[in-house]
Amino acid sequence: NACVTDTLHPGIKTDLETMVSPAVKATGCQGLCEMGPLVRIEPDSIFYTKVKVSDVTEIIEKTLMENRVVERLLYKDPVQGRKVRAREEAEFYKSQLKVALRNVGEIDPESLDDYIERDGYRALKIVLSQKTSEDVLSEIEKSGLRGRGGAGFPTGRKWRQCARTGNYPKYVICNGDEGDPGAFMDRSIMEGDPHSVIEGMIIGAYAVGSHEGFMYIRDEYFLAIQNMTKALEQARREGFLGKNILGSGFDFDIQIVRGGGAFVCGESTALMASIEGKVGEPRAKYIRSVEKGLWGKPTVLNNVETWANVPVIINKGADWFCSIGTERSKGTKVFSLVGKVRNTGLIEVPMGVTLRRIIFDIGGGIAGGRKFKAVQTGGPSGGCIPESLLDLKVDFDTLDEAGSMMGSGGMIVMDDRTCMVDVARYYLNFLSEESCGKCVPCREGIRRMLEILNDICEGRGRQGDIELLAELGETVREASLCGLGKTAPNPVLTTIKYFKDEYLAHIEDKT
Ligand code: SF4
Repeated sequence: NACVTDTLHPGIKTDLETMVSPAVKATGCQGLCEMGPLVRIEPDSIFYTKVKVSDVTEIIEKTLMENRVVERLLYKDPVQGRKVRAREEAEFYKSQLKVALRNVGEIDPESLDDYIERDGYRALKIVLSQKTSEDVLSEIEKSGLRGRGGAGFPTGRKWRQCARTGNYPKYVICNGDEGDPGAFMDRSIMEGDPHSVIEGMIIGAYAVGSHEGFMYIRDEYFLAIQNMTKALEQARREGFLGKNILGSGFDFDIQIVRGGGAFVCGESTALMASIEGKVGEPRAKYIRSVEKGLWGKPTVLNNVETWANVPVIINKGADWFCSIGTERSKGTKVFSLVGKVRNTGLIEVPMGVTLRRIIFDIGGGIAGGRKFKAVQTGGPSGGCIPESLLDLKVDFDTLDEAGSMMGSGGMIVMDDRTCMVDVARYYLNFLSEESCGKCVPCREGIRRMLEILNDICEGRGRQGDIELLAELGETVREASLCGLGKTAPNPVLTTIKYFKDEYLAHIEDKT
């Protein structure tokens, strides 16, 4: 038997190891965060939840020695209303499809052998021995992969634009700055499967002709930094990184840069300024980073999840990747599902799955028997989607049309006790603090909107406030310099659109 447990609970791992070593494996996140710490026993597929250190002896004695399950540790599926023995039986896992998360929760992130056993670095070997950079560019373009960091820009097109420029050196960057409240998609990949990101970056560098890469990780992600540092050392030692990779003559190396915690540094140009050691402020996008990015040189920047998709596309082919998802959004998307759902956790679903399926099947419905009210997608500058739109298909374009956005994958569910005006105020407060202040529409516009929202929430709302908020929101959206300002009004505009009665109730009741 082998036990698999989350890395975050070293006490359980240590106790299990003492008794059944060496068959205990600590993995990254297994997804069902609500029920952690989790322990899986293979090959019998026994799945235990909310395991405490004090349960270890019983697991050893009953399950490992006598082949009996510990009933009280089995997961009670809220959708099926019964306990399930194997993880695969749970609704939470049934509707998911793991591509970017293929190894997270399956391998020991500190073990290169584990990664290699599951096809790790196979794509890199294929690329360096059999493919030209043009082949790689064509494959990524054909796959339809779009950036998972928020904007959804076609990755292949971005790479080709960078490859086309004759200006050197060129740089490759991984954005691991994930600053959205409630989001932990990229963190989980970096912590649980660091080599997949590294492999993706090496392939990207080969395609565009870059020899130097940067991984920008927010400083609070200590485990991600630790696991990534170790993985980079392993990759160098085994010849996957550095000079003359795998004897191909191709050189590429990556260094980690720790982000200081400013939300705006997730914006690509601010992130590059931060790497250069400057103040992390965005710049106008008429100068494209693929031509003039880091230190004024051609640069490709993608986020963690995008890079993690690259090796699979090479291994399984663009046609396979294209067969998943919708017409214009191919593949899968990772979400951190949090808020008032029963099964909070890390999930990955094919593009095009409905919000209802995510919230009620995977998420197990609303916690505490309450009623669903709204779901906020796209991080702090995403929009709030009401019950009437629960059958919306989750992809880049459909969410945009509903006034929200995919963002990097934060998904916060709210129940019927949530005041939507308060929600809009919360996010606007966050964004006003995180605005870098460089341009007036964002700096002053968000503050003014926040003042109005404070007035409404604190009983000083007046007739005309809603219209003024909407007008200001449109101006901030139109005139701000970067994505932060351009999307900041979303929570206000969508709550006005879908929950106007709550604004009116505040203003009319003065409460
Ligand atoms: Fe800074 Fe906001 Fe302007 Fe972006 S939109 S540059 S965050 S002030």
